Amino acid sequence: MNPEILIVGQGLAGTTLALQLYRSGIPFLVVDNPSISRSSRVAAGLFNPVVFKRMNLGWRTHDCLKEAMSFYRFVEQLTESSFCHANGMHRIHGSADERKLWDERLLELGWEHHIEDTLPAENHPWLNQPFDGARVKSAGFINTLEYLHSVGNWLKNQHLLIEATFQYEALRTSEPMLQWQDLQFNKVVFCEGFKLAENPWFPESYLNPAKGEVLIIEAPDLPQEVINGKVYCVPLGNNQFKVGSTYAWNQSNPLPTEEKKQELIQALQKMLCVPFEVIDHEAGIRPTVIDRRPIFGASTLHSNIFAFNGLGTKGVVLAPLLTKEIAQFFLDGTPIPEDYSIERFQWKQSH
Ligand SMILES: Cc1cc2nc3c(=O)[nH]c(=O)nc-3n(C[C@H](O)[C@H](O)[C@H](O)COP(=O)(O)OP(=O)(O)OC[C@H]3O[C@@H](n4cnc5c(N)ncnc54)[C@H](O)[C@@H]3O)c2cc1C
Repeated sequence: MNPEILIVGQGLAGTTLALQLYRSGIPFLVVDNPSISRSSRVAAGLFNPVVFKRMNLGWRTHDCLKEAMSFYRFVEQLTESSFCHANGMHRIHGSADERKLWDERLLELGWEHHIEDTLPAENHPWLNQPFDGARVKSAGFINTLEYLHSVGNWLKNQHLLIEATFQYEALRTSEPMLQWQDLQFNKVVFCEGFKLAENPWFPESYLNPAKGEVLIIEAPDLPQEVINGKVYCVPLGNNQFKVGSTYAWNQSNPLPTEEKKQELIQALQKMLCVPFEVIDHEAGIRPTVIDRRPIFGASTLHSNIFAFNGLGTKGVVLAPLLTKEIAQFFLDGTPIPEDYSIERFQWKQSH
């Protein structure tokens, strides 16, 4: 049987879409060359419902978090792996105002699921906390490398993953079905990260990619918990932490830079009261959309060629719910919410 859908890219977007199609019983195949974009592999994998600056909850937070937790548990069982760490996160209050807002939110209905009381700085003597700190209990992280690796192995075992570079010109669209190599598909979904900007099927401008850099540090005196302050530290085991992250727009060079390394080291020195040693440094380019919302929908040039992109800084928490809705769209045509439909751009750009 020919697969119904070809997914191009096995980052967070393509991997999560593949498994939601699997759950919906829609046949698919994935093609990926992991060396083209490293965004999902470099990511710290944090999920955090709270926007600290304004002490708001993020876009569709409740539904996204709920689906993400049940989805990642399902994948852990399916692939017999363990990558989801929903153990909360310690927030270092960024200012007196943020701390005040935090304490006000604690009195509002619904927030008790997300945040806890502020604790005095002395409780975390390894941190510099001029405004004290508190725990976000609904936050956590997934080890993205482990997630992509476990699902990649599972897909390979099921003969559902081809490791290759997808060349745009190799897609034949003249037949009733779309044809790539000797295979036929009803639909192609591009989940190619920041490379969407080079895709001839999507000539409109959607992306404003944001390059990000992270350090891997060793800090034996730092407890293995997630810390979020000016920068974040995510525990990797063996006294190691991922520290990030930086932002730089309009950069196509994916290599790490000395400038951003120093920026992270300086922020870390201010945040930690314990010694650390830098042991690695990585970079990736986040596929961020101009209006900061994800995009899904068909090309204006071919109604069976789709893009799913723009997970930006929140791929871990957004991908499971959005791909569930996309699978439903493919199953029975249930419309995609306007918020992240690609049509919001296509309509504007054609008028
Ligand atoms: C430093 C940094 C830290 C981050 N931290 C977090 C975080 O803590 N939490 C969070 O939720 N998000 C985080 N993100 C953002 C998150 O990583 C992105 O939302 C996510 O990576 C987007 O996934 P994607 O699958 O769309 O793109 P990508 O990760 O870029 O994946 C695209 C895949 O397609 C492949 N590909 C592209 N073109 C082709 C082709 N022609 N043929 C074959 N394969 C192809 C690529 O090699 C890659 O495997 C971070 C990002 C960075 C850079």
